[in-house]
Amino acid sequence: MDAFEKLQSELNALSEEERRNEIASMKGECICPDCPTYTQCASENDERLYCFLGKSPECIQSEQGCICPDCPVADKAGLTNIYFCTAGSEKAMRQEK
Ligand code: SF4
Ligand code: SF4
Repeated sequence: MDAFEKLQSELNALSEEERRNEIASMKGECICPDCPTYTQCASENDERLYCFLGKSPECIQSEQGCICPDCPVADKAGLTNIYFCTAGSEKAMRQEK
């Protein structure tokens, strides 16, 4: 089990409220708003944490670079992908492989 799978199973073991709190805390660490790909639309919709919550429904269409590898969440969660805002969550991308 790698770091991402371990975190997934830890999240799954939490109560709904604890999981909500943990997601909110990771959202606070997300550096997407500093990324050249991030848009005004995404900001207005308070979008972040695409690596867990999935791709942007409509605010991000073009990729202008991805700073996910510099994010503390990526390190902590052992993420192996990038461009979650356009490609989908880490879990979804792993399932596609
Ligand atoms: S890895 Fe990327 S999408 Fe996930 S929290 Fe960090 S900056 Fe946001
Ligand atoms: S997922 Fe990556 S490319 Fe998309 S906004 Fe976040 S840091 Fe930028």
